[in-house]
Amino acid sequence: MTARAFAIPMRTRFRGLDVREGVLVRGAAGWGEFSPFAEYGPRECARWWAACHEAAELGWPAPVRRRVPVNVTVPAVGPEQAHRITAAGGCATAKVKVAEKGQSENEDLARVEAVRDAIGPGGRVRVDANGAWDVDRAVRMIGLLDRFDLEYVEQPCATLEELGRVRRRVDVPIAADESVRRAEDPLRVRAAGAADIVVLKVQPLGGVGAALEVAAECGLPVVVSSAVETSVGLAAGVALAAALPDLPYACGLATMQLLDADVCAESLLPVEGYLPVSRPVVDERLLAEVEVDPGGWPQRMAAARGQWEGRSATP
Ligand SMILES: [Mg+2]
Repeated sequence: MTARAFAIPMRTRFRGLDVREGVLVRGAAGWGEFSPFAEYGPRECARWWAACHEAAELGWPAPVRRRVPVNVTVPAVGPEQAHRITAAGGCATAKVKVAEKGQSENEDLARVEAVRDAIGPGGRVRVDANGAWDVDRAVRMIGLLDRFDLEYVEQPCATLEELGRVRRRVDVPIAADESVRRAEDPLRVRAAGAADIVVLKVQPLGGVGAALEVAAECGLPVVVSSAVETSVGLAAGVALAAALPDLPYACGLATMQLLDADVCAESLLPVEGYLPVSRPVVDERLLAEVEVDPGGWPQRMAAARGQWEGRSATP
């Protein structure tokens, strides 16, 4: 299998990244994406490799719906811009970034107020603190922000123990995102009583099939999210959202806009708040525009595969 490496500039910085990098491979079932972040070693990359292998060689479970609802994401911008982004997104759900370093609580309140105003009383507004609050601050801020009627709060604090303490003191549902990084994490989240909802991503969990098993075992409602992939990687997230028996929440899969270019002519971009359940094909001309020398990627993939096969062989 030939690994085709890509480097695509980001329109909005994400995880401190200006460029999203990864490789695409084509197998019997279609294209797969392998795009673990630079700091991940072979152990962490093993599941990302398994997700890519599943997409390229094995295929995905059958969908039970034809489109999946998605949220518009509002970064830590001022209220006017937040209003514009929400209105332009055309989604019935908005996710608003709060607790940004260097910003005041009033900035969070003004942003969420603007988003609620733009989306209207029938829309849903969730906030994401990316683990930045301590317990007391989270409880206080959730109380203040809930005047704008929150759907849920994503990762208000960093640790499971803190999430559980916040959860026992507020009525707004708590979602665990950063606390879910490995397949066993959702079970820990549930056992700790730390969240009402888990955010699941296909690549870190080892594929659509693996993520479905995690969702079933965990038993909590799931929000499917992306790792900011090209449309090849996003299609796996869509396949997961399409195959879940229940999908009570809009997915965080409308992330194609964060990238400056795509490798597919039919990008997975939302239409009226939904992504179609489809599998876009790679356009050779578009791939050529973002293709780079594979560099260390083949070795990185081989190491990830070795880890995966090694752990599978262990009884
Ligand atoms: Mg999050």
